[in-house]
This record gives sequence, structure tokens and C-alpha cells, in this order.
Amino acid sequence: MSLLTVGSVAFDAIETPYGKTDKIVGGAGTFIALASSYFEKNQNIISVVGDDFPKDTLDDLNRRGIDTKGLQVKEGEKTFFWSGKYHNDMNSRDTLITELNVLENFDPLVPEEYQDSEYLMLGNLSPLVQSTVITRLNKRPKLIAMDTMNFWMDIAMGDLEKTISMVDLLIINDEEARQLSGEYSLVKAARLIRGMGPKILIIKKGEHGALLFVKDEVFFAPALPLEEVFDPTGAGDTFAGGFMGYIASTGDLSFENLKRAVIYGSAMASFCVEKFGTERLLDLKNEEISSRIERFVRIADFDMNVLVK
Ligand code: AMP
Repeated sequence: MSLLTVGSVAFDAIETPYGKTDKIVGGAGTFIALASSYFEKNQNIISVVGDDFPKDTLDDLNRRGIDTKGLQVKEGEKTFFWSGKYHNDMNSRDTLITELNVLENFDPLVPEEYQDSEYLMLGNLSPLVQSTVITRLNKRPKLIAMDTMNFWMDIAMGDLEKTISMVDLLIINDEEARQLSGEYSLVKAARLIRGMGPKILIIKKGEHGALLFVKDEVFFAPALPLEEVFDPTGAGDTFAGGFMGYIASTGDLSFENLKRAVIYGSAMASFCVEKFGTERLLDLKNEEISSRIERFVRIADFDMNVLVK
């Protein structure tokens, strides 16, 4: 099957209690495509960078089987830049700088070869760009998933609501779910957000796992308790990439399989946070992924003897 990813390809500067980076490669689209490439081999990406972006990184993506025909390189322009600082708990962060640069006037052209994409992952990017890609596809994919962040809620709520109404699955974190719905209770927030369009909703809760809402069902997946979280940047995107890569490779949208996909997403995110930026996602071994999945199975497994008197 085939997965089309749309999302920022960026330079990030990150500060965590463990250290500080200069500009390193990041971006929602980069993390998603790398994570999903471990499951789905037919991978395409639509994004834009400036001529300051390293050719080596495009080679890294190609080496992982990601086709970059849809990744525009704009001569004389600068790549999107984001800078963030994590608090001591590593669960919350402040955005210090967002320079849209090439993203400001990005026109997401869809190469002819991408027209038959069966699965679409709209990573974090302007909601107008996200909806433009949907309308430019001749055929609706089997599943359209989307991520977003508070930045777009603050500056483009109208466009965002319109895009949310067009997708099947929304993947956001707890803080974003609360801001989007105006509700503190995540269960109430989930009901309101699903009323906006998406039949399926995933709310990520950082080191506290993720909730999947489908029809009347709720599934909770833990995050792996890690001794050290080095850099959480991109964990959410990596989760989405693992999830969609697994869904695209299996083509099964049943509740049971969506649950499995949440576990694959969580496992990929647990690798992402072990190093700065995309480093950990560049050459994972299949055995590393499967043994981590086994740890997820074990950590939530128990034998229940129901005793009610
Ligand atoms: P995450 O940690 O999963 O929320 O994603 C972090 C990534 O999102 C970083 O690599 C940033 O480059 C990217 N990012 C941050 N802000 C934006 C934005 N407003 N639009 C698109 N991508 C962004």
C-alpha cells in the first residue's frame, strides 16, 4: 500500500535539561516519514525547504525508501525554523521561536505519482496547506489522519476547524485537546472534538501514554517508563508515523488493529526520545523494534480474577 506524508521539514534548536543544540534537522514531516518507513515501504512526502537545507538529509530520507519528489527546494529561501525549551519535567515546553520562512507561502503541489496514495498523514503544518492537499487528490484516501498544534489554533482557528471537519482521524496531545475543545475533561473534550468531524481521535499524554477513541470504545496505551528522556522533540510525530506506517502496511482499520497501531506508534516514540533530533530513527534494527513491542505487551498485561461479593 502507500502512505503520503505532508508536514514541516525543518531546522530545530532545542534546549533540554541534558543540553542544548545548534540548528539540527527536525520537522513533523521528517519524523513521521522516518518512523513510518520501518513499516510501509511505499512512502512519499510533500513539504518544502530552502536552499540552506542539507542534501545529506534528503539522501537519508531516500535511503529509508522515502520518495522526495514532492519535497520542494526553494532557491534563495530559508528553511522553516523552530526553537523550543523543555521544562525540568520534560512533559511541557515553551516555543521560543517559530520562523515560517519557506512555509509562509507554501503551495503543496501533488506529483502525479502520489495521486493514488491510499493513506494520508497530514503532519503539523498550516491547516490551509493540509486541506489543499486533500482537495488536490483525485481520489479520497482510505484514511486521512491529521496532527496540529496550539500555534495554528492561535492564528488560524477557522482554517483549522475546516480541515478537522475533512479528516477521519485527529492525533493531538492533551493540552491541544483542551485548547481546541475548551474542556478540561479529556472525555468531554473527545466528545466535542469528534463532533467536529473525525470519527477517530487519539489524545497523546506524553510520558503518560495515549488514549484512542473509536465509536463507543476507548483504549489506553501506556508509554514505556524510561529512565532517561533525552529530547522529546518529535515524539508526537514519531508516534503518528509509527501508527500510520503500521496501518498503511496492514490495511486493516478494525478497532483491534487500531489498538495495535497505537502500540507501534508508542514504541517508535520511545526510541525517538533517546537521542537529540532524528538521530535514533535513522537506523533502527527490526529486532530492536520487535523487542520493544514485547516490552509494551508485558507492561500492560495482567491476569484478572474478578472477585465481587
Ligand atoms: P512534536 O515534538 O512532535 O510536537 O514536534 C516537533 C516538531 O514540530 C519540530 O521538529 C518542529 O520543527 C515542528 N514544528 C514546530 N512548530 C511547528 C509549526 N508551527 N508548524 C509545523 N511544524 C512545527
